[in-house]
Amino acid sequence: MILTGDAVHGPLREEVEVCVVGSGAGGAVVAAELAERGREVLVLEEGGHHPTEGFSARPLEMMGRLYRDRGMTCTLGTPGIPVPLGRCVGGTTTVNSGTCFRVPPRVLSKWSKDHGLADLDEAALAPLYERVEARIEVRSAPVATLSANASFVARGAEALGWRHRPLLRNIHECRGTGVCAFGCPRGAKQSMLVSYIPRALAHGARLHANCRVERLRVEAGRALGVEGTVLDPETDRPRFPFSVRARALVLSAGTVHSPVLLARSGLAGGSRELGRNLRIHPALKVSALVAERVTAWAGVPQGYCVEEFADEGILMEEAFTPPEVGCIALPYLGHRHRALMERYDHVVNFAALVSDSSTGRVWPTPGGRGVMTYRLNRADHEALVRTLRLLARLCFAGGAERVFLPMLGMPELASPDDLSRLEAARPRPGDLELAAFHPMGTCRMGADPRRSVVDPRLRVHGVRGLWVVDASVFPSSLSVNPQLTIMAMATRASGDIHEALGG
Ligand SMILES: Cc1cc2nc3c(=O)[nH]c(=O)nc-3n(C[C@H](O)[C@H](O)[C@H](O)COP(=O)(O)OP(=O)(O)OC[C@H]3O[C@@H](n4cnc5c(N)ncnc54)[C@H](O)[C@@H]3O)c2cc1C
Repeated sequence: MILTGDAVHGPLREEVEVCVVGSGAGGAVVAAELAERGREVLVLEEGGHHPTEGFSARPLEMMGRLYRDRGMTCTLGTPGIPVPLGRCVGGTTTVNSGTCFRVPPRVLSKWSKDHGLADLDEAALAPLYERVEARIEVRSAPVATLSANASFVARGAEALGWRHRPLLRNIHECRGTGVCAFGCPRGAKQSMLVSYIPRALAHGARLHANCRVERLRVEAGRALGVEGTVLDPETDRPRFPFSVRARALVLSAGTVHSPVLLARSGLAGGSRELGRNLRIHPALKVSALVAERVTAWAGVPQGYCVEEFADEGILMEEAFTPPEVGCIALPYLGHRHRALMERYDHVVNFAALVSDSSTGRVWPTPGGRGVMTYRLNRADHEALVRTLRLLARLCFAGGAERVFLPMLGMPELASPDDLSRLEAARPRPGDLELAAFHPMGTCRMGADPRRSVVDPRLRVHGVRGLWVVDASVFPSSLSVNPQLTIMAMATRASGDIHEALGG
C-alpha cells in the first residue's frame, strides 16, 4: 500500500522490522527482496507518488513533478555542472534513460587492491546481476525502437572503424516513445516504479510517499529508527511529524542525501570520509546538422553506444532530447538560434561520459539539504577535451554538415577542415558545458574503517543495524551507467539484512 502526504491527518508513529529510506535503485530492491522473504518493510520516500497513467510526456511539466528542484541541482565549482536527481517514488530510476551495464572487471580489481573489496569479484556479482537483469527485463534495444540518431552514430562509427552497438536496456514492450527521462508514459521502462516497488507491495511492504526523513536515531551504537516530516504533496509544506522505530535501518537516499542524513545525525564521522570522494561521470554532448530529415526525437533517446574508448574511461552514448529541452544544447541567440531550432528535425547528437578521478564533496546545509562542490582535475579535463574532439570527428564521419560544440569561444565547426581548429584549441575547464547523471562515492565502502564510511557488506562502521545501500557506496567511478550495479549490491545486502534479523 502507498500512503501519500494528503492522506495523513495527524502525527505518525510506526514500529516495523525494516525501515528503508528512499525508493530508488537501492531502496526499492532491498524493500522487495526483504518483503519476499517475509520481512515487515516500510519504505519512506520524500518525493511524491506519480503513477504512470499521469505521465504526460511533456518534458518541462514532468521535470517539475519528478525531479528534485525541477531538475536544477548542480555542483558548485568551475565549471558548475548540472547533476539532476529524481525525487519521486522510484527515485532517479523513474527519470533515467534505461541503460544497463555490468561494472567492468578492471574496476573491481582496483577496488580489491585499493579498498580491500576482494569478495566483490566478477564471479560473486554474476548471480546477483542475473537476478536483477531477469527482474527488470534487460535486453538489447530492439532495432525497430532506435531513432535515426542511432543510425547516424552507427554510420559515423563504422566509417572510423570504431566498435559500436545497441545498448542494453531494462524494457518491456518498448515502443520508443522518446521520453524516458521524463517518466515513461507506457510504463515500458522497467524503473523501480513499475518493477521492484510493485513487487515489494505485493509481498506486503508499505510505502509512505511525501515523507522526508530528517534524522536517524541511534543509541548505544545501535540504530533505532528515524524521524522526519510528512509533506503536503501539492505545496511540499510540512504537515505533521513522524517517527519510525525499526530493528534494521537501510539508508538509500542517494549519493547527495545519504551522507547528509548521517552527518545531521552525528554519525559516521570517524573516518572523515563522509560526504567526500564524490564522483559524477562528467559528460558532454555534441550536436550536428545533417542534410536529411531525421526527427531524431522519435525513438529511444539512449539506445546506442560506441565502446572504442571505454578502456581509457570514455564511454560514448546517445542522449537525444526533445526540442523543448534540446534547445539549450544549441548555440547562439535570437534569430540564429531560432533558425537552428526551425531545423531541429535535421539535428542529431552524441554524448560521452568520462570515468573521473576528480573528487567533489557533499556538504550538509543548515536546512538539511546537500550542496555539491566538485573541481575537475587536469587529467579529467584533458579527457573531456579529447572526448570533444572524438565526438566532433564522429559527427563529420557520420555525414554532418555543421557540428555544434558545448564550448565557449568555438560554438561551431563549419566543415571537417575545422577539426584542426579544434585540435589546436586549448579550452579551460570553465569553457566547457558539462552535465553529469551518476553521482556516487560519498559514503564509500572499504575494509579499513579509517578510510571508508561503510564496510564491504555496506554496514555503517561502528553502528549496529544500519546499512547504506545506494550509489554513495562506490569507492571510485564505475566508468559505466550505475543502476544495475546498485541493484546487484542491494540484492546482496538484502540477504545480509535478512540473516542479521534472524528467525
Ligand atoms: C536523466 C538521468 C538519466 C540517467 N540514466 C541512467 C541510465 O540510463 N542508466 C543508469 O544506470 N543510470 C542512469 N542514471 C542514474 C541512475 O538512475 C542513478 O544512479 C540511480 O537511480 C541511483 O540510485 P540510488 O538508489 O542511489 O538513488 P535514487 O535512485 O536517486 O533514489 C534516492 C531516493 O531517495 C529519496 N530521498 C532522498 N532524501 C530523502 C529523505 N531525506 N527522506 C526520504 N527520501 C529521501 C529521493 O527522493 C529518491 O527518490 C540517470 C540519471 C539521470 C538523472
